[in-house]
Amino acid sequence: MSAIELSGVQKAYGVTKVIHGVDLSIEKGEFVVFVGPSGCGKSTLLRMIAGLEDITEGVVSLDGTAVNDLEPARRGLAMVFQSYALYPHMTVAGNMSFGLRMTGTSKAETDRRVAEAAAILQLEPLLKRKPSQLSGGQRQRVAIGRAIVRQPKAFLFDEPLSNLDAELRVAMRVEISKLHQQLGTTMVYVTHDQVEAMTLADRIVVLRAGRIEQVGRPTELYEDPDNIFVAGFIGSPRMNLLTGTSDGTSVSVAGTSFSPKLTSPLPIGPVTVGLRPEHFMQPQGELVQFSLLVDVVENLGASSIAHCKTTDGQELVVEQRGSERAANGQAVQASAPLAQALIFNDQGNRLR
Ligand code: ADP
Repeated sequence: MSAIELSGVQKAYGVTKVIHGVDLSIEKGEFVVFVGPSGCGKSTLLRMIAGLEDITEGVVSLDGTAVNDLEPARRGLAMVFQSYALYPHMTVAGNMSFGLRMTGTSKAETDRRVAEAAAILQLEPLLKRKPSQLSGGQRQRVAIGRAIVRQPKAFLFDEPLSNLDAELRVAMRVEISKLHQQLGTTMVYVTHDQVEAMTLADRIVVLRAGRIEQVGRPTELYEDPDNIFVAGFIGSPRMNLLTGTSDGTSVSVAGTSFSPKLTSPLPIGPVTVGLRPEHFMQPQGELVQFSLLVDVVENLGASSIAHCKTTDGQELVVEQRGSERAANGQAVQASAPLAQALIFNDQGNRLR
């Protein structure tokens, strides 16, 4: 039995449909991340699980029971929002215990749970402070603490780190990951940031325009994307997507050609070839070689990102390590393993 199950879930605002029939099973203890560009329906889907949005069609079940008509407070879920939504006049301890006190939990039990959550989140020295006396990261930890004390069946996170600066976001990401390991509770997490999705998730759900594009473990989506959208969305820097043509057995692309290993012939005509910038760092086995003119090199220290032009004027980004790195304006040859080249048809679906 799945912890959370969505069957044929749809959402419409008036005549505008924003979720077009989503089927998804989330197992107990899983960390599932909904990722996709702004407006694709991630928050709406999460809010339907929470009970904060009506479900237009389909069923949401928790532990095997349909909850479409169950009010949010009775679902046993805890939500953490981007805006921390703390009570400004209450202390940290007061904010964390408020929900429990409202539901009649004894003072002893409330104090025990607040102390436990404060220890997990290293909030003990801050328990007497008011939210205005806390940093953004500390406020978000209080919001998470308030969710922990409720001992929910699942945590629902809606872009919880978006208000934090880059450094703090990375630190909090690690904390949330640790929290999941420690508690083992089911977590559903919404973000538009594919790095957050890759680093946190057991499984990622990639959404586009109210539909699931692909569901899989982070490495599955990275290595084996079903289509150009997922290929381009997952991975940083982005996968290069080059326009080429196929004659059925070989592919001509950006001034070069190669014959991929095929189980069935390619369709004759336009194709897109996908190669990740990092695949140019370890040219091994049979290679695809490009002649490039380097536009700009970004030196990141450990690696450099060279933004290049192919002989037919397409953009190609190449990552380099070691001592030999390209310079601005240089003409270079760059090779990637043929086995890494993904091929997509003109509908954007993966062929190989
Ligand atoms: P995401 O979280 O992926 O950025 P949302 O779930 O917030 O996307 O929104 C999905 C779509 O639903 C968007 O196109 C948004 O404009 C639309 N939408 C969200 N809330 C409403 C609403 N109350 N009325 C009409 N349209 C809405």
